[in-house]
Amino acid sequence: MAEEIKVTAGGNFIHDIIDEEQKEGGRTFGEKIHTRFPPEPNGYLHIGHVKAMCIDFGTAEKYGGICNLRMDDTNPAKEDEEYVRAIQEDIHWMGFDWEDRFYYASDYFETMYDLAVGLIKKGLAYVCELTPEEMSANRGDLTHPAVSPYRDRPIEESLDLFARMRAGEFPNGAMTLRAKIDLASGNFNMRDPALYRINHAEHHRQGNKWCIYPMYDYAHPIEDMIEQINYSLCSLEFENHRPLYNWVRDNVDLEANNRQIEFARLGINYTVLSKRKLRNLVENGYVRGWDDPRMPTLSGLRRRGYTPHAVRDFIERVGVAKVPNTVEVALLENCLREDLNANADRAMAVLHPVKLTIVNYPEGESETFMTDLNPTVENGGQKAVSFSRNLYIEADDYMDEPVKGYFRMFPGNEVRLKSAYVVRCTGCVRDENGNLTEVLCEYDPASRGGNTADGRKVRGTIHWVDAATAVDAEVRLYNALFLDPDPDAADKDYLACLNPDSLEVLSGCKLEPDVAAAAVGHPYQFMRLGYFCADKDSTPEKPVFNRSVSLKESFKK
Ligand code: ATP
Ligand code: MG
Repeated sequence: MAEEIKVTAGGNFIHDIIDEEQKEGGRTFGEKIHTRFPPEPNGYLHIGHVKAMCIDFGTAEKYGGICNLRMDDTNPAKEDEEYVRAIQEDIHWMGFDWEDRFYYASDYFETMYDLAVGLIKKGLAYVCELTPEEMSANRGDLTHPAVSPYRDRPIEESLDLFARMRAGEFPNGAMTLRAKIDLASGNFNMRDPALYRINHAEHHRQGNKWCIYPMYDYAHPIEDMIEQINYSLCSLEFENHRPLYNWVRDNVDLEANNRQIEFARLGINYTVLSKRKLRNLVENGYVRGWDDPRMPTLSGLRRRGYTPHAVRDFIERVGVAKVPNTVEVALLENCLREDLNANADRAMAVLHPVKLTIVNYPEGESETFMTDLNPTVENGGQKAVSFSRNLYIEADDYMDEPVKGYFRMFPGNEVRLKSAYVVRCTGCVRDENGNLTEVLCEYDPASRGGNTADGRKVRGTIHWVDAATAVDAEVRLYNALFLDPDPDAADKDYLACLNPDSLEVLSGCKLEPDVAAAAVGHPYQFMRLGYFCADKDSTPEKPVFNRSVSLKESFKK
């Protein structure tokens, strides 16, 4: 079993193999490292794909090689140009580039067809007229080989039938082209696997040119050979398919020096990482699109406020190994928190506002305080925050009777208004239903900047926004999309695991005016609350903010 070594530490088991093969006499001695990232354009990329991207592009980068971007679009039914564009955008966002090496596997269909004809001529493939049902009924078991009555039909007959399959003479499922390998193989993938099947479906780029489509296991090694890939890196579920990859490589008439190496897929708890499942969430309205900030897609993470740096940091910390592992979503959140702590502007915002009136502050007057944009950065800059007689504070920063350890607003208590003054709470106003409508206090003019002149201690500090300049905003809080730690498990119905409270929408939140006008995605730390950014739905009239991540680990279901 491969030892787990971090990319940052300079290598991993894949790099060890490459180092070995690049030595004199090795398989790729003197060759440039050439990898590919081969997404199927049937959905948006998710964070699992970043692992593959970091391995494919990252390995090429490390060795001064090149990495192709290839749309693996051999399966006609579910592919779309929208996905192609989104995939390109997401890869660029992650900081990877394919330059002019952008390919579609479907452009190789003609070559793949010719190579299949070549296999038939060599007696290495035949047309089998078993239907899919009959084929699976005849696949045998560990003690019995598979059976096909068509295996030994004359080459001429297979050539004729294959040409007629292509010409559209037969309905879906009527026959397949199969490799002639070993009906008794212990690896069922080698029991004369299908190479082509009939599918009268329109292809997103080929239109109706084809009604037979190559199977993944046949197509992929050919794609790699055509593009002269020497390291075909993929996830572990292809390990059992490697003998077939090698068989195709070794038997079709193309020059080859490609090798498949598998690595463990990334799994994250409380998450599903499968385009099919994610697509279902989108298409059936369980979320608000592929870029819903609750989604583990790159577009969702980006909209939520994730940075490429945080995502890559996460992938590096997870490391590359051959052992499947499920990583805690808390690790991902921590990577973002660290990044934003260093890079987000600080601001005050009030999510559950109640009015605070400073009864001894002159009516109609105001002043400004300078606050640090980022205290973790030397010379991180400052901004002006306005202050007046009426402010907003968080409703839970007031209590009539303090509970143990509560040092914020309660009658008689002194509290610091962050960066401004020390105030003493004098009471509150409630409506006829007993709801809190206003908190009252007096300020100490000698405490400007936040410290008392006589050095008396003030334990609590709360944030506030000036009511005179505050802008109302919608704030969207995100919790886990799934309640179950492993919704992706084969034996679970991921839809039944959905968290009904994954989205909380707050309205009437109070923002400082410069924050309300921030560019989409610009990161903020709202003091005491977490990290937030303006959503793409945000307008100057109606700002909308996303909570990217809370301040402390508070992963909430
Ligand atoms: P999905 O099940 O989400 O559709 P896929 O494997 O079908 O994933 P592809 O578009 O075929 O998606 O994947 C492109 C590349 O990304 C492949 O090399 C695949 O192995 C890799 N990949 C996909 N999901 C993960 C993951 N969770 N971890 C690591 N690599 C992944
Ligand atoms: Mg796939």
